[in-house]
Order: sequence, then structure tokens, then C-alpha cells
Amino acid sequence: MAQPLIEVKSLKMYFPVGNNLFGRRKQLKAVDGVSFDLYPGETFGLVGESGCGKTTIGRTIVRLYKPTEGQIVYRGTDIAPLDEKAVQPWRQKMQMIFQDPYASLNPRMTVSSIIAEPMKLQQVPQADIDARVAELIAQVGLKKDHLNRYPHEFSGGQRQRIGIARALAMRPEFVVCDEPISALDVSIQAQVINMLEELQQQMGMTYLFISHDLSMVRHISHRVGVMYLGNMVELADVEELYSNMQHPYTRALMSAVPIADPDLAAQTKRIVLQGDVPQPIDPPPGCPFASRCRYCKAVCREVKPELRQIGKDHFVACHL
Ligand code: SF4
Repeated sequence: MAQPLIEVKSLKMYFPVGNNLFGRRKQLKAVDGVSFDLYPGETFGLVGESGCGKTTIGRTIVRLYKPTEGQIVYRGTDIAPLDEKAVQPWRQKMQMIFQDPYASLNPRMTVSSIIAEPMKLQQVPQADIDARVAELIAQVGLKKDHLNRYPHEFSGGQRQRIGIARALAMRPEFVVCDEPISALDVSIQAQVINMLEELQQQMGMTYLFISHDLSMVRHISHRVGVMYLGNMVELADVEELYSNMQHPYTRALMSAVPIADPDLAAQTKRIVLQGDVPQPIDPPPGCPFASRCRYCKAVCREVKPELRQIGKDHFVACHL
């Protein structure tokens, strides 16, 4: 396999949230020691329930947050400890596409200014900016006469295309796609996904694709990681994961995916999880899934399982 573009090592992102009874600072452990690699040109899907830390991982890797602990090794350089000024050159190589295209676009700016903004900040010459804006607007399937309009004049799908054009302005190597289609009509979702795939092929970008839509993740990803309560509990090649899932949480998650074939759907039993989701503020020791796992043993409540390799490109964090 090629050298990783990014190596995420034991990444922790904690947020302070008030004090406990003894006056000590409580911490919300949004990401609690996650490790995985991202390879050039691949799409790595990240799935899990809302609040499991998917978005925080994406934001931390592109250094919108400064990690509490751990390493983010980008082409051999650990960018985790860098301060705001030192991290700027790396930020140009990494971009985010956000879930809500309308909220992420400035309503007072024209499409042309929105797409040009990152290049202006980097003091790219105006002639180059104009040429790049024209190139980008065509790449995302919009027209030249859209450039002088404002975001409110566009549909949700068109606004997401504008957001994608802005994200690609500085020719990033790595893009975090954070639920990029969940705010769009179903009829538009496939168009945006196809466009992202085409752009990836043209520009050779690496995607971290965050979504709760497991069917879409299967379609677009090469490898998939499953998150639960700030931890990576399973990671595998996409077909291996969907055909040979091992972690009890992955099985429950996948059992909820709708099946188009009515005969197959009738044979498939949905696993309904019992028990409470622990709080990410000072979570209990041991396996994060213990309170909802039907296979939980005594050791699960005491020792946190490490992510271990169980097959080719297949890793699971479970004592079973
Ligand atoms: Fe269940 Fe134990 Fe495995 Fe956690 S480690 S998923 S509690 S069996």
C-alpha cells in the first residue's frame, strides 16, 4: 500500500464543560484516542450515531480545533501541536465541505466573491483568481452568469455546488465532506455524489466522508470506520465491513439499513439496542459500548478494548 497522506495517532479532543462537585473541570470527551490512516486518492467513510465524534474528528484533522492529545501526521509532519500561524500553510491543503450549504455561504457576497475569497486571502494575483473562478464554476456544473448572483437565488443543490467550488479553490489534497448531502432532496443527492467522485478522479483528492447514510457510505467509500462514543470500534475495507462486520455495535447499526428486496428484508432481523448511551462527559472505564452490548462480560466493564487487526485491512475493538 502507498504511504499514508495523513496518519491520525491516538487523537483526543476534549472540551471543558463546567466544574464537578469538587470544583474540578469536567471534560466532554468528543474524540477519545482514535488512530487511523488516510491514503492518497481514497475515500474513507466515517459512520456512527449523532454525537459519536465524527464531525469533531474531521474538524480536528483540518485543525479547526487544536487537539487535546495525539498526532496528525501530514506527509511526515505532525501538525497537531502547531500554533495558528504555523498551521496556516497546512490549512490550504485541507478543506471542509459542510452539511448546510446555506449557513456556510455569506448571504451578502456574490458567488464570484465567495469562490474567490480563499484565493484573495492567499494574495493570488487577480488574473489567476478570475481564471480559476471560471474554471471552478464550470467544474461544479454551474453557469458563468451565476457568478454575479447571491446564495438565496439558488436551490439547495446549487448552493452545495457553490460550497464545493469554494472548498476546491486552493486545490486541496484532502477534503472533509461533513454530511454533504443530508440537507439536500433525495433527487439531488446522487448528482452531488457523482460530482464529488468525478472531481476526486480529476484532482486526485483524498476524502474523509462523514455520514449517517450507510448506503451512500458504501457506495462512495473505499474503507469505512465505525465510531461509537468518541472511539473507533471497527475499521475495514468497505466490502469486508458490509459483508463480514464483527463488532456488536456495527451489526446493530447495519441492521437498520433499509433493504430494497422485500424477500430479503423479511429474512433480515433488525437489532434493537437496549440500555442507555453513556455520557461523553467522564465516560465509565472499559468498553464504551458495554452498557448496550448483549455480549458484555466482566472484563468489558473494566478494560477498554484496543483496536486490533483480525484480518486483512480489518480491525475491531472488542474483547470477543
Ligand atoms: Fe460488547 Fe465487550 Fe465487545 Fe464491548 S468489548 S462490544 S461490551 S463484547
